[in-house]
This record gives sequence, C-alpha cells and structure tokens, in this order.
Amino acid sequence: MSVAGDTSQTIVVAGGSLAGHTVVAELDRRGFTGDVVWVRGPEGTAPYSRPALSKELIQGKVTRDAIRLPIPERYGLRLRVLDHAVCARLDPDADRVLVTRTADSGEEWIAFDALFVCTGMRARVPAAFAGLPGVHCLRTLADAERIKERLAGRPRTVVVGAGLVGSEMAASLRSCGLPVELVVQGRLPMEPVFGAELGRFCLDRHHAHGVTARLRTTVTGLTAAGPHDPVVLTYDDGEQTSAELVVLGLGAVTSCDWLDGSGLDLSDGLGCDAALRTARPNILAAGDVANWRHPVFGRRMRVEHWSNASAQARHAVESWSAGREGREPAPFADVPYFWSDQYGLKYQMVGHAHGHDEVRVERTGADGYPFVTYFREGRVVAAAGVNTPRAVMRMKARIQSEGTTTQGVYAR
Ligand SMILES: Cc1cc2nc3c(=O)[nH]c(=O)nc-3n(C[C@H](O)[C@H](O)[C@H](O)COP(=O)(O)OP(=O)(O)OC[C@H]3O[C@@H](n4cnc5c(N)ncnc54)[C@H](O)[C@@H]3O)c2cc1C
Repeated sequence: MSVAGDTSQTIVVAGGSLAGHTVVAELDRRGFTGDVVWVRGPEGTAPYSRPALSKELIQGKVTRDAIRLPIPERYGLRLRVLDHAVCARLDPDADRVLVTRTADSGEEWIAFDALFVCTGMRARVPAAFAGLPGVHCLRTLADAERIKERLAGRPRTVVVGAGLVGSEMAASLRSCGLPVELVVQGRLPMEPVFGAELGRFCLDRHHAHGVTARLRTTVTGLTAAGPHDPVVLTYDDGEQTSAELVVLGLGAVTSCDWLDGSGLDLSDGLGCDAALRTARPNILAAGDVANWRHPVFGRRMRVEHWSNASAQARHAVESWSAGREGREPAPFADVPYFWSDQYGLKYQMVGHAHGHDEVRVERTGADGYPFVTYFREGRVVAAAGVNTPRAVMRMKARIQSEGTTTQGVYAR
C-alpha cells in the first residue's frame, strides 16, 4: 500500500527510539511525499538498540556506535529531525503539538495531518531514591554509560528488582567480576513473567554464578552520608547492607503525561482501537506506550518488548494509510515475543500468559532445561524456554494461526 500523494501533508512522529524510528523508515519505504517532523525526545542521541544496554554494552562487548539503528540520513523523505526536543502538549482540536527544546526552552506549535505517538516509557524511580550518588536506573544509553563508568572501581553492587532488566543486570555485572546482591521482592526472579518453574531455574543460575539473592525483600530506604560514601540500603526486615553501586530495576512508566488534558484515553499508556488508532483516527500509537485490544487474546494490553515496537509501528502506518484510502484497517494481531540473555543462556517467551490456569513443564536437550507451556481453558496461550528457539517459534506460529483463523479463541 502506498502513502505517497499529497505533498502538503505533514506527519509528526513523537519519539526517537525503535517505534518512532520504524514509523519514519516505513513512511520512507512507502514513498511518502509530504513532510515528516520527527521529535526524538530529550536524549539527544541517534536511535539505538535498548536491549543491548543491559547485555553486551554493560559487559563491554560492544560500543555505543555498534548499537545504533540504521542512520536516518539515508531516508529519501522530506524529514526534519528535532533532537533535544519533546512534544510537550497536544491541541487535538487544532491538530497541532507544542514542541519544546530542552536546551533553551524554545518552543513552537507544529500542525499535523497525522501524529504517531511513540514516546515509550521511562524508568520508574521512587522519589525517595532519586538523585543519590551511586544509585542508578537503566533505561537510556546515558544511564548505561554512567553505570559502566563506575565498574572500574570494582564496586560492591546491589541490584534492586529482579524483572527482565534487574535479572540481566545481575548476570552482566557478575560476568564483569563484581560481587552482586540481587533484591527480589517476590518469591523468585522473573516469576511474574515466567511463573514458578522458570523463576526457580533463573534463581538457580544466579546462585550458580555467585549472586547473593535476597528473596521476599523490599528496600525501604537508601541513604548515603556523602557523595563519595557507600549507599546504605535498609530492608523491610530491618537488615541493612552497603554498596558503592546500586542499580534500580523497578520497572518503567509510560511517557504520555504530555497528552494530559487532550481527552485521549490515558488509563494505561495511550488507549487505541484494535488497529492502533486513538479516539482521533489521525492520532495513532505504537510501541511500549500503546494500549490496544489484542484480537487473539481478547483483552486490552500493552507490550513492552522490542519486536512488538517495530511490528506495531509498521502496522500503525498501514492503519493510517488504509484510513486515507477508505479501507477498513486490520487489527494488530502479532503474538508477543521477547528474549532475555543471562549467563550465556537465551530465555524466550511467546504469547500472553496472563490468566493461565494450567502449566505443563517438559525438559529439553542434554541439559534438561525447562520448556513451559501455559494454557487457559485448555488452549495454549503462551510458551517459554531456555536455548530452544525453534520450539518457541513453533509455538508462536501455532498460537498465531489458531488465534487468527478462529478470531478470539482465547477470549473469555
Ligand atoms: C535495558 C533494557 C533492556 C531490554 N531488553 C529487552 C530484551 O532483551 N528483549 C525485548 O524484547 N525487549 C527488551 N527491552 C524492551 C525494548 O527495548 C522496548 O520494548 C523498546 O525500546 C520500545 O521501544 P519504543 O520506541 O516503544 O519506546 P522507548 O524505547 O521507550 O522510546 C521512547 C522514545 O520516546 C522519547 N520520548 C519520550 N517522551 C517524549 C516526548 N514527550 N516527545 C518526544 N519524544 C519523547 C524517548 O526519549 C525515547 O527516545 C529492553 C529495554 C531496556 C530498557
């Protein structure tokens, strides 16, 4: 499908990471002949691969240049790139956004025919933990480089939170030879995502590599006497520990506060229909920020995974294009997929395990790693394994085809 045509059209793309980058690339691929204004956010860096931050970059296996996404200059678009600039407000009735420059607070209103919201997420840092020297979160390249600078001093390290980023950081910091304590709020690392079987497997790997795991523990306070003193962590059982480096892996919050007052649905990210259009059909969303109703699983969701951001970005452009051509856009129905690399093992998961009522565990390969299949009402809704890419992808295809050949088979 083409989106070429009216040269007087202007598209604004908000967000300079994977989803925004893919929207721009897709407009280029389709030969869009209007203007594209790409507001890339406060970071001031060309788009890069975030997954590498907690893996190869921290481990020193790649440089910042190696993780860049393809260079925008190759686009044949009429493209204006705004770095160190954010969309600060939306005026939906006039179809325009207020863009502010972070360096000098300059601002301008930009009118659009279509707006793609790809503003993703930022790290969740409780106010009480913010700004302490030695305490870092990890969402951006700058965050990763700040952490990396601290590694030369071989700091005692505590990673707080054992989701994907926390677990990967514990593994990467161990591979750098640092002493690592991992604070797990629940029973097991990554259990909310993977369930108990793979959570147990993940914990065993941390133990085998010398990580000290504190289970069912919440950090209640972080303090430091001075900028060069160790950070003291206080836990909910009253115990304390100290560290020169604390990495917070406490999840992320959606970056859509700039849409406050716009009348759009902001109850969890930016609410869209099944084709990724908001209540204003010329405003669409893609990536971590987008909340839509998944036709296979029959429920609304947001997906915070790499492959989802690029697939949704392409789909959002197609939905907008369909609208202009008077076609009904298709729902976005890709089955979610993510991977995580820890201690040389590749964890992979497909589907949406939420609400599963049965789990089957098989042992795979010579090492007997667990392969977990999650069922709801007798149907497969998700699967996860370790170093089993073919089996995981077979499951993805199966969930995709069963779900799309019989719409909503997993719906309640
Ligand atoms: C450390 C780490 C490791 C990860 N590892 C994996 C992995 O192994 N596997 C996996 O599947 N996924 C992984 N992910 C998740 C994956 O990186 C995200 O799903 C992906 O980056 C989402 O892309 P996005 O473009 O939707 O949002 P984001 O990457 O969050 O980008 C949003 C962009 O919008 C910009 N922005 C914010 N506000 C504004 C505004 N008001 N105006 C303009 N721009 C704005 C931001 O600066 C940013 O550039 C990882 C994430 C992190 C942080």
